[in-house]
Amino acid sequence: MIRGYCMRCKGEVDIRSPIIRQLANGTYMLEGYCINCGTKVTKILSKEEVEIALDNGAKKEF
Ligand SMILES: [Zn+2]
Repeated sequence: MIRGYCMRCKGEVDIRSPIIRQLANGTYMLEGYCINCGTKVTKILSKEEVEIALDNGAKKEF
């Protein structure tokens, strides 16, 4: 599972349906939903973290 910070749960949570996008400036961003409350969770990833996230089942959209 990929972890991220949920604003509503105020802590690290597992992210459901993670998708990785690349922004216009080249930054990689992971988007998904908190497994606990369903709130949208986003996270900026380094290139290295992108590889790890893909290995952990994130969908690639770039
Ligand atoms: Zn949450």
